[in-house]
Amino acid sequence: MRFLNLHNHTVYSDGIGTVKENIEAAISKNMLGIGFSDHSYTPCDTSYCMKKEDYDKYLAEIGELKQMYKEIIPVYAGIEMDYYSEIDKSKFDYVIASVHYIIKDNICYPIDHSAKQQLDCIADAFDGDVYKMAEWYYDLVVDHVKKNKPDVVGHFDVISKFGIMPEDDKYFSIAAKAMAEAAKYCDMFEINTGAIARGYKTLPYPHKRLLEELYNIGGKVCINADSHNPQFLDLFFKESVDLLREIGFKCYYVFNGNGFDAIEI
Ligand SMILES: [Zn+2]
Ligand SMILES: [Zn+2]
Repeated sequence: MRFLNLHNHTVYSDGIGTVKENIEAAISKNMLGIGFSDHSYTPCDTSYCMKKEDYDKYLAEIGELKQMYKEIIPVYAGIEMDYYSEIDKSKFDYVIASVHYIIKDNICYPIDHSAKQQLDCIADAFDGDVYKMAEWYYDLVVDHVKKNKPDVVGHFDVISKFGIMPEDDKYFSIAAKAMAEAAKYCDMFEINTGAIARGYKTLPYPHKRLLEELYNIGGKVCINADSHNPQFLDLFFKESVDLLREIGFKCYYVFNGNGFDAIEI
């Protein structure tokens, strides 16, 4: 079984590998292709994202390597677009839409950087009500997907990263409702294994209950590593296929430059 990973970060944002090092790693792992998705510029927090003035350099470098490696492996230039970013979508081969912040009452709360920051957000912006925060977050996800019509919905339930969200019916019904709504505008969701590489989770996003929901509404899945280190480009991919198969999915999808092709599982 071969894979193509669209969600990778390099030294252009908060990854530790260069574009070339990631391509070489993808070749050594016999992958079908690799796409880059460094973080879009977010004015509310410039600590981890691409610099606005680096977009052209990023695209030029990937473009050059795309040519250089064209006989060996397909290389794509994408972006992980945050809700609070503005980009020219036409410059990129694909867009992954993600929500990393909640801005409320003019305060920017990072929601997937640390447990403490997420707890502060719940306490200060939502009077300690974890479900209110979940509702707000999922509303932003739906709005993002509706407005920007991305190619992939990124780490759909990233707010579960630190184990703060309760795994109960109330939480999952908020998430499932948002999933059904978002799928009207983009039905390609990623399995994202990034939090496994970083030691936060033992299973990927979305939670199995949400993957079951996605299956029931006819949604599609691609498998991405959200890698920040070339060694993790295909981490937990085979296990993710097992998970999809267990749920009933008959295939996962790989990008082909214009859209997605199904790979039977
Ligand atoms: Zn992200
Ligand atoms: Zn990412």
